[in-house]
Amino acid sequence: QHKIVIIGAGIAGLSACIRLRSQGHKVEVYEANDYPGGKLTAFEEKGYRFDMGPSLFTMPQFVEDIFKTAKKPIAHYFQYKKKSVVCNYFYEDGTTFSARADQQQFAKEASKTFNVAEETVLKYLEHSKTKYDLTASLFLEKSLHKVSTYLSKDTLNAMFKVNSLDINTTLADYNAKVFKDERLQQFYNRFATYNGSSPYQTPGIMSMIPHLEQYFGTYIPKGGMHQISMSLFQLAKDIGVKFHFNSKVEKILVEKKRAVGIVVKGKDISADVVVTNSDVVPTYRHLLKEHKAPEKVLQQPRSSSALIFYWGITKQFPELDLHNIFFSKDYKTEFDYIFNKKDVHHDPTVYINITSKDEPNDAPEGCENWFTMINVPSNTGQDWGTIITEARKNIIAKVSRLLKEDISQLIQCEAILDPRTIESRTQSYQGALYGASSNNKYAAFLRHPNFKQSIKNLYFCGGSVHPGGGIPLCLLSGKIVSELIEKAI
Ligand code: FAD
Repeated sequence: QHKIVIIGAGIAGLSACIRLRSQGHKVEVYEANDYPGGKLTAFEEKGYRFDMGPSLFTMPQFVEDIFKTAKKPIAHYFQYKKKSVVCNYFYEDGTTFSARADQQQFAKEASKTFNVAEETVLKYLEHSKTKYDLTASLFLEKSLHKVSTYLSKDTLNAMFKVNSLDINTTLADYNAKVFKDERLQQFYNRFATYNGSSPYQTPGIMSMIPHLEQYFGTYIPKGGMHQISMSLFQLAKDIGVKFHFNSKVEKILVEKKRAVGIVVKGKDISADVVVTNSDVVPTYRHLLKEHKAPEKVLQQPRSSSALIFYWGITKQFPELDLHNIFFSKDYKTEFDYIFNKKDVHHDPTVYINITSKDEPNDAPEGCENWFTMINVPSNTGQDWGTIITEARKNIIAKVSRLLKEDISQLIQCEAILDPRTIESRTQSYQGALYGASSNNKYAAFLRHPNFKQSIKNLYFCGGSVHPGGGIPLCLLSGKIVSELIEKAI
């Protein structure tokens, strides 16, 4: 039995601590906040419950896998249901489109709305699946930086078929080649935002993302997204992981090129293995100050961030569902603002998440809890006060126009999250949602590995390292770390 300390109780830290405890180690988690979950948390206001961060739940098998590893029945902790409507879309020209989970039904509806052959849509999805199947075991499920990864059969297979992965074209160009209708292109371009990238820069391989939504499906946990982190936290405690809250780690102790512990509130805490779930940039800048940082990796441009208005709305809208998108008219300009001008366009795409559609207790009777979000650049010192005032005005005008109702009159309460507060609450560099962006084809290789060659017994998990951001990948990073540690000690 080894003593392992984990820095941070984000979703990746929770995944890692449960797996390492299940391997029989003594595991202690040190968390700066007074709650677990990091970005995956929630709050209540005036009878409304809001999930604060993630709202889209895909690939529940990765959560299930953690309960299996811990040999505990998931149903005691966590339940979820599949959505039959994935997302409702509203376009400025008045088009509305309800994306169904069932592929055949989806293709049928898409064919009617966007004047495209059903087979074209089904073929796109099939290609999306091929890309996922070819690369998942290489890019996502293993450490990308161990030689054995490169030598596996799956890797070689993927490399040989690299042409069919559309790495040398952008997602937007790839979609424009497949679909004539610009609205359908916009629909598929949006998947770049699932890892905080631009469809006009991210490679065509990202057309595998729709596969996650349209093959594995989208789900809603009973009790909301917050139940993902809360159920894992409960499981971790039940199997004997020890948590220390309000315990910001100040330093990682290294002796003779080995991690030997951490410093918390000026006190040395020794350990055989240290796992950091903190963003990789503050890990190097604050916790490993005396060590050489991998500058090329740390200086990768960040993914987008988010500006969110949590609104208690005193009306119910039957045309809305759990996930709703109000598209901008000019998607290209919107992304040019986010990634090149580092600013927010006056006509942003607005995403509204309403958990009270599935969880009626999340809002008072006759009301809805609107999580209203736009993509914004990461924080590089913009005048957020002015951006927020302008965005609020533009969002209200846009949604009111498309829903034909003045929503400003319906806002009973409001809270706001912006890149600065995302950064200060979770230490995520520049408040980016997904670590570095995937705006170039080498991004996967430029993410920090899950270990450090020059410091033994130090491991990295979380959205800013391999395999990337988002709940499924963060859960996988915890798994990869636990497997690397099992092999190493
Ligand atoms: P984080 O959640 O960033 O947590 C890191 C933890 O480490 C924090 O609790 C922090 O306090 C702690 N910590 C850091 N440094 C220290 C230190 N020195 N000492 C002690 N503790 C420390 N993903 C999806 O899958 N679907 C979505 O719909 C989605 N939407 C999102 C919307 C928003 C608004 C946001 C913010 C994120 C969204 N994401 C989504 C991304 C997802 O939330 C993240 O990728 C994921 O939660 C990151 O988890 P993590 O384990 O890397 O760490």
